Amino acid sequence: MNFTHYKIFFSPDGLKKSYHKKGSLPFLCHVLPVIFLIVGFLISPLVSHTQITKTSIVKTIVLDPGHGGKDPGNLGTKRYKTTEKDIALAITLLVGKYLNQAFPEMNVIYTRDDDSYPELIERTKLANDVHADLFISIHCNANESKRPIGADTWVMGPHKNQANLKVAQKENAAILLEEDYKQKYGDFDPNSPETYLALSLRQNVHLNESLMLAKYVQDEFRTRVGRVDRGVKQSGFYVISFTTMPSVLIETGFLTNPTEEDFLNSSNGQDYMASAIYRAIKKYIAEVENIPVAELNKVVLTDTLPEKTIITNNDDEFKEDTIATYVDSVSTDSINYRIQLFVSSEKKSLEPDNFKGLDEITLVKVGNLYKYYYARVPSYSEAKNVRKIAQEKGYGEAFIVSFRGETKIELQEALNLELENNK
Ligand SMILES: [Zn+2]
Repeated sequence: MNFTHYKIFFSPDGLKKSYHKKGSLPFLCHVLPVIFLIVGFLISPLVSHTQITKTSIVKTIVLDPGHGGKDPGNLGTKRYKTTEKDIALAITLLVGKYLNQAFPEMNVIYTRDDDSYPELIERTKLANDVHADLFISIHCNANESKRPIGADTWVMGPHKNQANLKVAQKENAAILLEEDYKQKYGDFDPNSPETYLALSLRQNVHLNESLMLAKYVQDEFRTRVGRVDRGVKQSGFYVISFTTMPSVLIETGFLTNPTEEDFLNSSNGQDYMASAIYRAIKKYIAEVENIPVAELNKVVLTDTLPEKTIITNNDDEFKEDTIATYVDSVSTDSINYRIQLFVSSEKKSLEPDNFKGLDEITLVKVGNLYKYYYARVPSYSEAKNVRKIAQEKGYGEAFIVSFRGETKIELQEALNLELENNK
């Protein structure tokens, strides 16, 4: 396999060596010290004198911006010309920039640093070939509904529910755009359930380290950037299943949610996300290298990085692991309200077209009948608002039904529990 189109960013040390080979040593002897003096003077107010810039365990990091070239990734709300591939690339390049600043001797390697499409198999092979110590794939999420919001970080492993499976399937679908994918990927068919069963049985040798980094990423997103924390999850993503080092895949947010799409398209938003990921990597390095984070912090050009909280979204419904459209997903036990639209003996597909334009339809089978619900909200007051939306769409008889998780409960019981929770 040919990797010549990858641009590998060597450490300054490596560059110096290659200059020496060209026989320009006398010139460099005179000029280099002067350059170092000037550069040293320029950056000296920013870095501490006791800097730790050398790492002995995490020496090579492969950063993988999802999609690229012919594969745009998800298209978001289509209000922007940019798609997932552009945002993933922008954030990834910033993460690399911050790493290079803090750890000049670290090899930061990109699977792509422009609008090209390396095949998924090439991305994992690159990481394995260069013996990377860390592999980080950066993406943006999408959903049929515009409601889901927030970031999650994934490690390889068995999916807990259908919604989680679907995220991996969507990302793995890039394979289908590749030529001769059947020969290249063998049994790995992105659409087949057997693929994911087989993947979930694979042993994840680096699970603990991957989980640690994933947790740090989510911590940073939540506490420093104020993102909705959708948690650390597992599913069968190709690119983090076939790498042989600690690996995570970060979904930075939903481009199908207009607010989040605006945020991720803004240069500020991209910078916030990148610096959060960078800080998480730094914490990870501190942990595995056994260096106090405080020491590592001294080398960081902290003042140049955005660190303040900008968005706070405490809406509990967004924090849930489940997405209402997927009826077979496992859910938490939280109280939720839905709007019952109608009951029918006919099983309809859940597209908005079948429900007068309403999305977020849930279906529950009771005996031979199907009950169709609209929306899923955490409070009775919100339920009244969404019922109004349903009525305005023409469902005059629509009424509010309450659930604990996926179990229907009496409205009075739900109201009591809601009251108790809010005390
Ligand atoms: Zn993606």
